[in-house]
Amino acid sequence: MSTRQGSDSTTSARGFEGISQPLPATRADAEFLSSRSAPGTLPGTMRNGFPLVELHRHLDGNVRLETVLDLGRSRGVDLPADDLESLRPYVQIMDREPDLVAFLQKFAVLRQVMTDYDAVRRIARENVEDAAAERIDYLELRFSPWFMAEAHGLDPKGVVEAVCDGVDEALSTDAERARVAAGLPPRARLIGIISRNFGTDIGWIELEAALAGKDRGVVALDLAGDEANYPGSLFVDHFEQARDAGLRTIAHAGEADGADSVRQAVLGLKAERIGHGIRAIEDPAAMALLAEREIPLEICPTSNIHTSAVPTLSDHPLRALLDHGIRATINTDDPSISGIDLAHEYRIAHEEMGLSDQDLQACQKTALDTAFLTPTERQALLTQTT
Ligand SMILES: [Zn+2]
Repeated sequence: MSTRQGSDSTTSARGFEGISQPLPATRADAEFLSSRSAPGTLPGTMRNGFPLVELHRHLDGNVRLETVLDLGRSRGVDLPADDLESLRPYVQIMDREPDLVAFLQKFAVLRQVMTDYDAVRRIARENVEDAAAERIDYLELRFSPWFMAEAHGLDPKGVVEAVCDGVDEALSTDAERARVAAGLPPRARLIGIISRNFGTDIGWIELEAALAGKDRGVVALDLAGDEANYPGSLFVDHFEQARDAGLRTIAHAGEADGADSVRQAVLGLKAERIGHGIRAIEDPAAMALLAEREIPLEICPTSNIHTSAVPTLSDHPLRALLDHGIRATINTDDPSISGIDLAHEYRIAHEEMGLSDQDLQACQKTALDTAFLTPTERQALLTQTT
């Protein structure tokens, strides 16, 4: 999935404002859910001293359930449930969603508790703490400033500042400072998102907010949201200006729309990495373009099932994309909404998607090679990871 975030503030409900009643899981879904491996354990072959890097995780799609409850209680937010297990179906996928837009409804409750900058700061801090607990060596966390600001009338630039503050807090421990003193990059950097479905005017506000965080760890611009109805061609100027201002660029594409969207992201937006990109499989020319230009895909397997972009894990095109010479990485997208972690995604890629040990290691290496790191930081991660 993708940040996807948000409602269209001008065309009203596209399903984001309301909190949908969770549906009972079908038998097939129960089988899918029960087939998940226990989170937290990497496939054995990955305990290889190679750094674990995640490039595609939405911090606004990754709020601890306990934090949702706690913020809700302390802020007087009227949540749909008042204990963890009752709340879970409202913020976690318990059933496949019919499409990306339906998937995005799960963000509604998370957004309800983003009432103020302290709440935003806490959510950002906990994201980095949780990544460290997962033993992720380097993480690029993305978020949509307008999406996080809109529900409670916050200033998007204030949201960026609060996110940067939260990340800084998490990176202020002795252990995290020691890593940086040893030459490693900070454990997390940030990516600002333009949510397509807010339209182009809000897009400029999101870009401006992202640029306000450029000296505090925001390194790139991404495009997410309702891909099928808001094509990348609307945002070419935003991306050009972002590049001129020194940001790297990524775009979600080929998730809810087809191979043309992937081609547009590469040729029109000049994105350096593609979020998902899986529907490039529908067009040999799009695959050839990705392979020739060595544009890496940020693959998020469970998310693709949850948004119904792919019917089953065994149908996932990652294996075929690799066979076409396309570089790919493995990522979580929205850990708390999908109920997964990064180790889980590597495990299912190995156990259910046909990736060999060598494939997993190639994905791991591609993540390191295509992260927004300096050569020195990349080398330090390589030599100091145990
Ligand atoms: Zn995403």
